[in-house]
Amino acid sequence: MFTCFGKAKNQLDDPGQSSMSKKSTPLADVPTWAEYFQKEKDSILKNSPSRDTDLKLDGTDASLSHKVSLWSGDITSLGIDAIVNAANHLLRGGGGVDGAIHKAAGPQLLEECKTLKGCATGEAKITKGYNLPAKHVIHTVGPVGENAPALKSAYQRSLEVMKENNLRTIAFPCISTGVFGYPQLKAAQIALHTVHDFLKEHPDSVDRVIFCLFLPEDVKIYENLMQIYFPIE
Ligand code: ADP
Repeated sequence: MFTCFGKAKNQLDDPGQSSMSKKSTPLADVPTWAEYFQKEKDSILKNSPSRDTDLKLDGTDASLSHKVSLWSGDITSLGIDAIVNAANHLLRGGGGVDGAIHKAAGPQLLEECKTLKGCATGEAKITKGYNLPAKHVIHTVGPVGENAPALKSAYQRSLEVMKENNLRTIAFPCISTGVFGYPQLKAAQIALHTVHDFLKEHPDSVDRVIFCLFLPEDVKIYENLMQIYFPIE
């Protein structure tokens, strides 16, 4: 089921519309995974595969289910500390989520990006958010095609840059799964595992990590996996 919390349908259809006309979604309007699960429990459990997994998580902690969210919609509408851009090496904007972020942030974002001298695969660099409701953009470059260490590094470095800048709320798009062609399920497993381990290590540094899911397939994939990485008691 495609669940869309706190999100107008037209914002999904037109991610590039001006931030001036767009509703900003504050953190308070983004349910935690624990809240989302309570509301959608029946359909999630009905559709979930077996929880059997050979995953080696470093213990699971029920309190982490309050620090993560699944949220369907356009990342440029989130009014939080930082949104992550799935950028390319040049940091000059592009299509997909990168294009939507530059369009909503305005031309000053590109001007600041030009001063950063690009970004390597698996690295992350921060700018201001300009016209975005988010205060900052963390630009990361995921791999082209399947490359687990590079995708893990893109998530990890983005989280580290958030922490280094004393930011507490962050939203990720599904890095590399669009034009860069990473298989969605495998990418989601890496995203969830990396965020799980970071939250486990730094529980007091982060208020919320939002997985921003733009496609209905990603909503299904994440709903099915969340109970493995962020089980609700
Ligand atoms: P990449 O080049 O890293 O694959 P893409 O932008 O092509 O990046 O796709 C990454 C993900 O971002 C895809 O799941 C795509 O559907 C999603 N996406 C595209 N536009 C937006 C948006 N405005 N907000 C959130 N996610 C988006």
